[in-house]
Amino acid sequence: MKLKKIVILGSTGSIGINTLRIIERFPERFKVIGLTAYQNSKLLEKQVRKFSPRYAALDKKHIPDFQKIFGKSLKILDVETDLEFLASLPEADIVVIGMRGSAALKPFLSAVRSGKTVAPANKEALVIAGDIIMQEARRHQATIIPVDSEQSAIFQCLNGGKRDELKKVYLTASGGVLLNIPQTKFDQLSVAEILNHPRWQMGKKITVDSATLMNKGFEIIEAMRLFDLKLSEIQVLIHPEAAIHSMVEFKDGSIIAQLGITDMRLPIQYALTYPNRIETGLKALDFFKLKALTFKEPDFKKFPCLALAVDVAKKQGTLASVLNASDEQAVEAFLDGRIGFTQIYNIIEKVVSRHRVIAQPSLTQILDADRWAREETEQLIAKKR
Ligand code: MG
Repeated sequence: MKLKKIVILGSTGSIGINTLRIIERFPERFKVIGLTAYQNSKLLEKQVRKFSPRYAALDKKHIPDFQKIFGKSLKILDVETDLEFLASLPEADIVVIGMRGSAALKPFLSAVRSGKTVAPANKEALVIAGDIIMQEARRHQATIIPVDSEQSAIFQCLNGGKRDELKKVYLTASGGVLLNIPQTKFDQLSVAEILNHPRWQMGKKITVDSATLMNKGFEIIEAMRLFDLKLSEIQVLIHPEAAIHSMVEFKDGSIIAQLGITDMRLPIQYALTYPNRIETGLKALDFFKLKALTFKEPDFKKFPCLALAVDVAKKQGTLASVLNASDEQAVEAFLDGRIGFTQIYNIIEKVVSRHRVIAQPSLTQILDADRWAREETEQLIAKKR
């Protein structure tokens, strides 16, 4: 068995932590060679002690401390400037992208251009520049194995037929914390209540995106990019039990679903061991406890962020970059208590409607749109105070 050498971008977030839990169980299969974090230097220090990577990147201000602690045994890098270098290390086999936000775009491209196997949990890079990423992946024979649970499910289901036999993808959504709460109550909920997701343990930003269903909207765009799907080939299904992580319908009417417990270690491990499967040590899905699988149509009126994302998916171009950047800023403002919950949509919608779309944008135009949207969003947030 060849030892797979792994770089984890964002090792102190929930994806990074779960990736390391898997690697720890299989030291004969995997070796960590690079870890990165921004401010959580304490956890990164523990991870470096335990996994002894060759490289670690973090915020500049923590670098002197790290140099004192680890001396020459560790190559210490700056997380702001050195991620592209780390993502393209000649000795790396797999690059796991656990970091969130559009900051992942450049290292993602760097990994792809180096022909790596890339395991992205990050959806922002695919949402804003998925066309460019997929094009470069083909050109450099990089393999992209998505870690986002729905995309992993679609990827796995597609093994059940040929790509040109695909008819439709069912993208499932648990419905988030607000599924059974009337819209009129949304603004009365505290940030902590919004963060209390019923099915998945995730970072704060994505948990708010799950409450607004913007996350599902991003996943529509992500799936379009990853699997070269038309918008009309994707059906969002609200599925509160979250047992089915997505499904693919083929031409003959056969539908293949991927089911499992809601634990991110499943899709992460699949990406690390692909095309093989090995045991996870996790408990299996219990159908007797589950009892029923239920489905509902999404309510676009109650969750306007989903409708907005669908509209953006239709228009494409730089608009996806604007949607993503505006959402990042607005959700951050909500988490800081600067705006209310329903203002998240109101603000993003204004920014999206003001944007002049550029079709088939270059990377520079995508990043310009990102910057423009952040400024525009911040101005609207400031006015709301
Ligand atoms: Mg997901």
